[in-house]
Amino acid sequence: MTFDELGLETDLLKAVRALGYKQPTPIQEQAIPLAIAGRDIIGCAQTGTGKTAAFVLPALQRMGRRRALLTLVVTPTRELAGQIEDVAWKCCRHTKQRVAAVYGGVGYQPQIDKVRRGVHMLVATPGRLLDLVEKGHVDLSNVEILVLDEADRMLDMGFWPDVKRIMALLPEKRQNLLFSATITPDVERVAGPILHDPARIEVAPSATPIEAISQSLYPVNALQKTDLLVRLLEKHQLDRVLVFTRTKHRADKVCRHLERSRIPGAAIHSNRSQAQRQRALDGFKNGTYRVLVATDIVARGIDVDRISHVINYDLPMNAQDYVHRIGRTARAGATGTAIRFLAAEEATELRDIEQLIGATLPCEDVEGFAYSERMVPDPQRTARRPAPRGPQRSGRPSHRTSQRPERAGSSADRGYRQGSRRPAAPAGAVRSGSGRRGG
Ligand code: AMP
Repeated sequence: MTFDELGLETDLLKAVRALGYKQPTPIQEQAIPLAIAGRDIIGCAQTGTGKTAAFVLPALQRMGRRRALLTLVVTPTRELAGQIEDVAWKCCRHTKQRVAAVYGGVGYQPQIDKVRRGVHMLVATPGRLLDLVEKGHVDLSNVEILVLDEADRMLDMGFWPDVKRIMALLPEKRQNLLFSATITPDVERVAGPILHDPARIEVAPSATPIEAISQSLYPVNALQKTDLLVRLLEKHQLDRVLVFTRTKHRADKVCRHLERSRIPGAAIHSNRSQAQRQRALDGFKNGTYRVLVATDIVARGIDVDRISHVINYDLPMNAQDYVHRIGRTARAGATGTAIRFLAAEEATELRDIEQLIGATLPCEDVEGFAYSERMVPDPQRTARRPAPRGPQRSGRPSHRTSQRPERAGSSADRGYRQGSRRPAAPAGAVRSGSGRRGG
């Protein structure tokens, strides 16, 4: 299918061509005609699937040239708001419509000035939007299209009370487009009362990692993770690397260690000012920093081309976050590599992840690295795929609640050996499993 067949007007098609998009992605192919027709949508799409254009293009088309704030996009992070604004500006370059983004962490006045000049589409994080509404700078009474982006993350981050307050300020008759990387029962619960006869779109099961990503496991003693990271970066040509840590403190610590090893890197997390976050992101995009060390919340909004490697320095507590993390690489048709450091205390998280993705991941070693005592997972361990879903098309895989794996060490067949000094496998070799494809 081509963009010409989706029912988009000429000015938008010109913008799509200028963006270099040749073919609509699956979410765009499905969502754009339905949204142009005015349907409510609940869309489940992985990161990097092109969902921004899937809601921006039809919203611009439906608004036409009327001068009022007609589309409101609510999104959880500042970075995401900035990126959506960027895509929207590029999409409306021939339509004479105006877009603005408002988010916390930066001064009010430039945002107030932008809104005052008149905008058709406002992209906002919930807190700053409510501030601006309460101070009388934003009028939501004409909004005809509401987009809730990353609805699952807004729930996780506790934004839902604010989102509900925002919705109470909107006209009741409106079109609602809700997107979420995963449609959990919680998302269904909060979305239900908002949406009117929604079209459901799910372009890939939420638990399926992007095919183009090769994944491998590096067992390591927790105290050696930073040394292993430095060794990997020094020895191998990993050029644009996103490293995930579990906490802000650990992100800073890793970054300091990189500095001492003269590896150009920056940290990005919610304790950093907006200016620091922007500098880190810009530096990573333009190649000043080879490594960006991030926590999950901030990394959700990051859209950087050609991230070659995602390194899970710490495994995420939530297996779904793993899928989001690795989705930062292999975006828009590229390939990528996801590496997981695995310390003994992360056995449970590993099992959750392997069950979610339905694959047993191969272990690798960094040649010449002096490993101290560590846990090496049993290559014979099994990763059961979650049971196929029933008639309800989305939702948390059932194993997350009903078959939650036991803590490592509590079961005789847990599949992990503690304290092994055995090397995991020769460097670069595949020990087991089906997860690794290519280099
Ligand atoms: P998103 O999921 O909206 O963050 O988009 C992920 C990336 O895919 C962005 O870098 C977009 O520019 C790119 N993209 C979106 N739609 C297309 C398309 N139809 N063809 C190629 N790239 C696209």
